[in-house]
Amino acid sequence: MTQNRLTSQMDALITGMDVWHCQLPVRSRRDHGIGAVVGDCELVFLRLTAEDGSVGWGEAAPWSVFTGVPEASFAALARHLRPLVVGRRLSDRAAIMADAQRAVAHCTEAKAALETALLDLTGRLAGLPVWMLLGGAAQRRIPLSVSIANPDFDADLALMERLAADGIPMIKLKAGFADHAFDIMRLERIAQTFPQFRLRVDYNQGLAPDDAEARVRDVASFGPDFIEQPVAAHHFALMARLRAACTVPLLADESVFGPEDMARAAAEGICDGVSIKIMKSGGLTRAQTVARMAAAHGLTAYGGDMFETGLGHLAGAHMIAATPEITLGCEFYQARYYLNEDVLAEPFPIEAGHVIVPETPGLGVSPDPDRIDRHAVARSPS
Ligand code: MG
Repeated sequence: MTQNRLTSQMDALITGMDVWHCQLPVRSRRDHGIGAVVGDCELVFLRLTAEDGSVGWGEAAPWSVFTGVPEASFAALARHLRPLVVGRRLSDRAAIMADAQRAVAHCTEAKAALETALLDLTGRLAGLPVWMLLGGAAQRRIPLSVSIANPDFDADLALMERLAADGIPMIKLKAGFADHAFDIMRLERIAQTFPQFRLRVDYNQGLAPDDAEARVRDVASFGPDFIEQPVAAHHFALMARLRAACTVPLLADESVFGPEDMARAAAEGICDGVSIKIMKSGGLTRAQTVARMAAAHGLTAYGGDMFETGLGHLAGAHMIAATPEITLGCEFYQARYYLNEDVLAEPFPIEAGHVIVPETPGLGVSPDPDRIDRHAVARSPS
């Protein structure tokens, strides 16, 4: 009689779960419509251990003004989700994620870290890259966009010289954190100096309702691929009005976290496309769901990120690789262009302005645990 059983590796018990809260220094200040990043980024790292000693890694990349505080990600994983994970089998991944969704409200970055680590560990034991576990590959080279957000624009001009030399095809100007004249000056200067870049503009909710339409019209005259989240996340009706007034596509980012927001955004017609992030959706699978819902409503999708290390970038890259609905590229630039030092043991793979999706098991690259320990401000178990 034929036995119908999983291999013992793929059915392995999860026996350990370690969590770190780290602060990683950054190269410069960055300003956004909702707030600044100064000094360092705060990340929470997760390591799952299987009964044979194999490990899988995940990252939560919270930002206090956007998704939540790092202490919440740390507590969600170390205190509330650990009892749902340790002692379970890897083959129960969907059940573990469904339990996590019910056990902890919000904390989407922690759930993304958990699903990433489950997929990384499963992939390593099965000998498959994470994108294979998510449905197979639709794209293996993802065009990379780098964000321009330094209040010192001369420093960003120097960065753009480097980006041009590196073959980066797209930049995203962060706008709405100073005055409108500063945004227009930068747009004019970029158009004159770097005509080779495709341009996107992201307000990160930075415009006030009374002058948003006039400013969006001005910026649209520069012909960017899209203008992203000009007003506050909850201003759905205003987003819909701006979409109607704008001559270039309007993207939603902070307005759409998971599938539930996507359903409302589509019903209320607030955008032409959406920025998809595993840290907003609460995992890679839910991010794929958001992208498919967007496509079903005739909307485009962009592969966004938070202030991540190469580990978070890898999770996003595997998700995008398996998600043909995400057609506008990605922004996994922080590991190479923003952090003083990444945590990956090998550089996050970028070639000729594209992220190269790994084809080796799991996420394909592991972090260096010594670097995580060196930047840790809390650890559990301590
Ligand atoms: Mg954005």
